[in-house]
Amino acid sequence: MNKKKIDDSHLSFMRMAVKCADDNIRTGKGGPFGAVIVKNGEVVACTANSVTATNDPTAHAEVNAIREACKKLKTPDLEGCIMYTSCEPCPMCTSAIYWARINVVYYGNTKTDAEWAGFGDTQISAELGKPLEQRSIFFKRIGASDAIRSFEQWVELSEAEKSEVKNGTL
Ligand SMILES: [Zn+2]
Repeated sequence: MNKKKIDDSHLSFMRMAVKCADDNIRTGKGGPFGAVIVKNGEVVACTANSVTATNDPTAHAEVNAIREACKKLKTPDLEGCIMYTSCEPCPMCTSAIYWARINVVYYGNTKTDAEWAGFGDTQISAELGKPLEQRSIFFKRIGASDAIRSFEQWVELSEAEKSEVKNGTL
């Protein structure tokens, strides 16, 4: 495939994500955000934001796309997949992209554009850079001697058992 063709395919997947965002406004189902996940040139997820429709504050387009792609591909690992999202991902979605091991992300609007449209997340990004005790949400460590037992049990499992848990085959 030559460079022009590659650029065209990226753009067509981005347009698909943007269409998802536009349709979402038209149908009144949620915010103006859409995301597409592609594996080996095939669309495995095409989703919009559904925060208000589902009363789920985590139902951003990118998280919805990750959930749909993982369900379809029957794996929690999206390595080798590409995400196209109508807007630069927020801190939650960026984290989800790392957890899902998506390698490449193309985005349309920037965080600044989102801020302009009333969907800013700069306050969250700023919070994440602060030590826990300086954040606006109260964080306090308690029950550490109980909590550590979960990790102790996990560490004691054999590598084979850990693999079975991770693969869902236990
Ligand atoms: Zn997000």
